Amino acid sequence: MTEAARRSTVRCVCPLDCPDTCQMVVTVENGRAVDLRGAKDHPFTRGFLCQKMASYLDRVYSPERLTHPLKRVGPKGSGQFEPISWDEALDQIAGRFQAIAASTDGPQAILPHSYYGTMGKLQASSLDRRFFHRLGASILDRTICASAGSQGYEYTLGKGRLGADPMAADRCQLMINWGSNTARTNSHLWSLMVAARKQHGATIVTIDPYRSTTAERSDWHLPIRPGTDAALALGLMHVIWRDGLQDQAYLDLGTVGASALRERALQEYGPTRVAEITGLNVEAIEKLARQYATTQPSLIRLNYGLQRHGGGGMAVRTIACLPALVGAWRHHGGGALLSTSGAYEFASEKLTRPDLSPAGTRVINMNQLGEALMGELPGPPVRALYVYNSNPAAVTPNQSKVLAGLQRNDLFTVVHEQFQTDTADYADIVLPATTQLEHVDLHGSYGHQFVMLNPAAIAPVAECRSNNTVFRALAGRLGFEPELFPDDSALIEQALAGGPPLAGITRERLEAEGSIRLNVPQVYMPFAEGRFPTASGKCELYSETMALAGLDPLPTYTPPHEDPQARPDLAARFPLQLLSPPRPQFLNSTFANSQQHLQSAGDPTVELSAHDAQARGLSDGQWAEVFNDRGSFQARVALLNSVRPGVAVATGIYWNKLSRGRTNVNATTSSALTDFAGGATFFDNLVEVRALAEPDPA
Ligand code: SF4
Repeated sequence: MTEAARRSTVRCVCPLDCPDTCQMVVTVENGRAVDLRGAKDHPFTRGFLCQKMASYLDRVYSPERLTHPLKRVGPKGSGQFEPISWDEALDQIAGRFQAIAASTDGPQAILPHSYYGTMGKLQASSLDRRFFHRLGASILDRTICASAGSQGYEYTLGKGRLGADPMAADRCQLMINWGSNTARTNSHLWSLMVAARKQHGATIVTIDPYRSTTAERSDWHLPIRPGTDAALALGLMHVIWRDGLQDQAYLDLGTVGASALRERALQEYGPTRVAEITGLNVEAIEKLARQYATTQPSLIRLNYGLQRHGGGGMAVRTIACLPALVGAWRHHGGGALLSTSGAYEFASEKLTRPDLSPAGTRVINMNQLGEALMGELPGPPVRALYVYNSNPAAVTPNQSKVLAGLQRNDLFTVVHEQFQTDTADYADIVLPATTQLEHVDLHGSYGHQFVMLNPAAIAPVAECRSNNTVFRALAGRLGFEPELFPDDSALIEQALAGGPPLAGITRERLEAEGSIRLNVPQVYMPFAEGRFPTASGKCELYSETMALAGLDPLPTYTPPHEDPQARPDLAARFPLQLLSPPRPQFLNSTFANSQQHLQSAGDPTVELSAHDAQARGLSDGQWAEVFNDRGSFQARVALLNSVRPGVAVATGIYWNKLSRGRTNVNATTSSALTDFAGGATFFDNLVEVRALAEPDPA
């Protein structure tokens, strides 16, 4: 065989839950991937991957990969397993599912649990959904990340998560990262922001309670009090309307409800009141409003962190009103950017087939997994749990309840995973999963506008199988119609049979080209002429849809559930507002078992202001316990001048079993939900911190 025949390159796609959806070039020699790097010629990737994925090959070939099916032989949580064959594993799963479905509890006693451990359309949401819909299992409401903000954005701007053109960010003159650590979690957009600053002196502003990397590198950081973003947005509106800085022509053309919102902003959200709520000073509020109203193109990159509070849905809805007020949508690159995913119009229902699910099937909010497993929700008990693309023992709020549920001996748990996670330790059956290099997938993005194909670059490692391979095998054992479980090529074609942006984008073209831009205008300005995909066709500053849902139809400020101003009783015992954004080395809990990533990340930390540390007798680097009534975790105190007094930050997500005390930050977080759409409230979390004489052993 020639050198050329043994060596090839394959264009793959980063599978992580990240807006950048990078194209990766994988070099394969003799069937083994030997190199992986960002595609230089991909218009958004532009040749670089972030630090999380740079060593992905070490993950693929890690000696700690799960390589064979396992069955539990020790107590739940002990991590004691022995190998079994795939046939034995699948027979056991199918047998248990059949028995539960035939029992008086019925199939709704079976609960799937997944999120976006991979973002691929096929391995994240195709045959898995068909299988559980066909089975009649309980439906999981996948609300842990984006539901409240997405709903709030859609109430204002219409269905579809459309927004500004990310590729045109370098045209902007003002960029506001609102609750977005863009430099770390959207690094390819950040590079365009930096280019705008270098090339034409654009200004980068960050609004964030945390002095993140992005805040540090911005021209101006506004350290807002957590969960008060809607109040700031309304304060900006107050100044803009008060001083006549609004784009009245755009308001007349493209919005509904401007006079009602103007009235509210002017009456209720003067800078003095907003300063009291947000902790910012009046001058900063006035200055930002003037700068925003008089600088174009302006882009607000808002992200999901700010929606992780009780009023998070309304906060995103309120901020999404701002570009219309100043006419930012008229300018290429201007407007707001939450997600680009609505531009794709994949035929998602053809993939997932919700019609197969019996009418009236119970829906369980994934943020309340603990309550579901502990029998605290209506309907039959959850008797079987099938986990894939997720690690709920580490990432779900109200962790002690989740762990108590997973500990139930009468719960049959299956975990399909790449590594022996915290969740896998509680499984009855563990199935080894393929990585992105070992299976086929189709990708959209929520940060750019390219459809991308991920071919399998290498054969599955050992006995690993993809999600779809497993669901086909289980469907066969349960006697489900084979035509519902076709091969991956057919699924790609079904997904691409969607809306106009996908016209002409075929599987064959993707196989040849790898990445194809959607059929959207080269100069993408979706709302330059108004024409929003709302019921009124306008940007709904007043939302009749919200009124019909029993919500305030106008933007407003809703305090967090655990805000010290609203809950002084709770704050008297737990005075610190704890935020838990991602650690740059991890993506949720992915990579938090890798020695390389852990070495770079260091021990878990709790970042405090010098004032709060001093008041508690804590010094930099000292081990401490962070606690509230829900639980506690251990972390080193970090004094980095990164938070204001009253705020604490613990980045993550560390694995429980690799942490001192065997818990992580989610031992303290709450399963309370957002104001609408059932979102998680991870950052709505009052805690106290005390010194630990001696931390538990690592
Ligand atoms: S920037 Fe995002 S998409 Fe790109 S390699 Fe990193 S995690 Fe993956």
